[in-house]
Amino acid sequence: MSIKYKQLEGIKANAWKHDARRTDESVKFCPTCKKCYETFEHQPWNSKKFMFLSNFPSYKKSRIICPQCTRSINDNNK
Ligand SMILES: [Zn+2]
Repeated sequence: MSIKYKQLEGIKANAWKHDARRTDESVKFCPTCKKCYETFEHQPWNSKKFMFLSNFPSYKKSRIICPQCTRSINDNNK
């Protein structure tokens, strides 16, 4: 089970390499959890969807807090 999960993660982690231009435009870097993530804002039906990208270079990416951290910040302020 754990081996299968790791293989899936490996595929996801390297998926950006196959479509670098598209991800370059939609990838942001979250300064709170220090992860790069891809959003799907250009797809209205997917406006809340995002995906963390492991091992993605954060150089020159927009520093925007990711939806997950935004949610937890809002929860803390309640
Ligand atoms: Zn975050």
